[in-house]
Amino acid sequence: MNVYLDYSATTPIKPEVLEAMMPFLTQQYGNPSSLHSFGRESRKAVDNARDQIAKTLNASPDEIFFTGGGSEADNWAIKGTAYALKSKGRHIITTAIEHHAVLHACEYLEKEGFQVTYLPVDENGLISLDDLKNAIKSDTILISVMYANNEIGTIQPIEEIGRIAREHRVLFHTDAVQAYGHLEMDTKNLPVDMISISAHKLYGPKGVGALYLRKGVRIHNLIHGGGQEKKKRAGTENIAGIVGFGKAAELAYIDVETHDQRLTALRDDLKNQLMEAIPYTRLNGHPERRLCNNVNLSFEFIEGESMLLSLDMVGIGASSGSACTSGSLDPSHVLLAIGLSHEIAHGSLRLTLGDMTTQEEIDYVVKQLPPIVQRLRDMSPLYEQVKEGNR
Ligand SMILES: *Cc1c(COP(=O)(O)O)cnc(C)c1O
Repeated sequence: MNVYLDYSATTPIKPEVLEAMMPFLTQQYGNPSSLHSFGRESRKAVDNARDQIAKTLNASPDEIFFTGGGSEADNWAIKGTAYALKSKGRHIITTAIEHHAVLHACEYLEKEGFQVTYLPVDENGLISLDDLKNAIKSDTILISVMYANNEIGTIQPIEEIGRIAREHRVLFHTDAVQAYGHLEMDTKNLPVDMISISAHKLYGPKGVGALYLRKGVRIHNLIHGGGQEKKKRAGTENIAGIVGFGKAAELAYIDVETHDQRLTALRDDLKNQLMEAIPYTRLNGHPERRLCNNVNLSFEFIEGESMLLSLDMVGIGASSGSACTSGSLDPSHVLLAIGLSHEIAHGSLRLTLGDMTTQEEIDYVVKQLPPIVQRLRDMSPLYEQVKEGNR
């Protein structure tokens, strides 16, 4: 059996999405900037996708700007704001658990003379609103807090954070790449100025994303060149990708509630069964304020990489507590930020569910994983001591 439980890393393209994309990979190849019928067809397709995405955010289409993915949207929001407002201030507030697209953009700006405050999180992965208020200074120009975390699934109080940002007249960006498609976002009511989203996390193609940029918010460009995207993001549009993104977004928001209920039930079943079957296990992330598709567990006395390899051998694709960029064995900055020791962080497993996940797949994992953990523990000298009652 092959079981994919790594939907937070990426998702497969839905058949309806591929079907919408196909014409733009074959016979409809016009450049949207061209003044002929070939170009007009492509222009119409891009406009339609922009409408589809705007609808899901209750935004105006002219507030949606397509990018080459979530990472670009994050970089654009952060660097674009920094460069636009640097005469006003050079202080940025973010969190210790952001995706590297945000963290590394901020670290880059630090080298350019900006100051960055990295807010800590509690054991559930939540920031403190008091910490946020205390961090705001007269020269703070941007707050960037992710909507939901990609490793532990914790959902931040975005509305409250936005209100604080507004009170202090500071721009607010949220990396919603994981939350988009799972949670309702109404930009008419949500005090957020910029939102990053990405197609491949919600059954669309890789390499296409968007930045929601609230009307009136001015940031500098990141990509210079032609006049595409209302002169804000140069480059001939990835038409097929954009069309796929629009379709995927539309499909995701047809019935979020049913989607949420189904995945929540499967997620809780998986989590409960595994925690029951495997002693010395803890759940990472907030017990309630978490994404409907995320289970993140730490198993004491084992090492995540060996667990992943063993799971892979029985056809299960998951993710560990190491920095997600393969090759690195450093424990994840997110797990360390919620207070896990290096040892425990190393024994962590992220299972993320999706639309194609079935109860049979959950049952299969519940059958396969406990003996794998047991076998690895049997090789651990630490676990030996526990068994002998020396702990
Ligand atoms: C995947 C992800 C990104 C990066 O998006 P890409 O489209 O892969 O560049 C950014 N932030 C979060 C929270 C993510 O999960």
